[in-house]
Amino acid sequence: MSCSSGSVGLARNGRFDAIEIRLAFLYADLMNIYGDRGNVIVLSRRAKWRAIDISVQAVGVGDSLSVGAFDLIFIGGGQDRQQTLMATDLHRKAGVLRRMMADHCPVLAVCGGYQLLGHVYRDNEGHQLEGIGIFDAVTEHPGDRALRCIGNTVVACDWFGMGATLVGFENHGGRTYLGHAQPLGRVLSGFGNNGCDGLEGAIAGSAYGTYLHGPLLPKNPWFADHLLHLALRYRYGKDIPLQPLDDVLEERAHTTIAGRILR
Ligand code: GLN
Repeated sequence: MSCSSGSVGLARNGRFDAIEIRLAFLYADLMNIYGDRGNVIVLSRRAKWRAIDISVQAVGVGDSLSVGAFDLIFIGGGQDRQQTLMATDLHRKAGVLRRMMADHCPVLAVCGGYQLLGHVYRDNEGHQLEGIGIFDAVTEHPGDRALRCIGNTVVACDWFGMGATLVGFENHGGRTYLGHAQPLGRVLSGFGNNGCDGLEGAIAGSAYGTYLHGPLLPKNPWFADHLLHLALRYRYGKDIPLQPLDDVLEERAHTTIAGRILR
């Protein structure tokens, strides 16, 4: 990976201000399984390789969250127990999160985090965790005797462009059913939201939910840059082009895995 050099900034009032992105890693200590922290690392690296100042702050249970404090939000996956530990606190933050998302602050929510940004998650013992309703979706765990949705997955994301795909790994018991939410994509291989309707993930404005672990972003650089682009637009109110990076290795990883899964 060779990286572009050169600083990126905004000329304002004759000054050259470096541009920055502030990333909130929600419940980093609880919601971070199957390498989901790697998504934060990718977003940080791809920003730094473009000389964009990026800061990452863990925002956990009991921490305050205020509108305008962050430009990008990430929440990872977690087992039912971790979801139970953070669900109440998520509701305390829901008002601020909804306001930020209404202003199109980008969010990436993976698996357990995705589930709780829907309306409800009924876990494998029938306990009901209320979500915050960013995604018009409900999730039901069919019980321990049901097959978990585990495996490598390829998803077609036509909304981004013809041929745009995501590759990742899923491991969830919950089955998610979308209401009016737009799916993140069509399952080309794997289970996706529920193993039945051929849909994976959800989109609500600039909020993206997915079951894809891996972590997701290293092998899907287009999606990482999409999130960075949205974060800059949210922060600065305009489209700031991202300098292209040399993604030969990332693209090779993507096509190799996709080819292996779709063979
Ligand atoms: N506990 C949830 C489920 O089993 C989410 C799991 C996860 O985040 N990987 O569906």
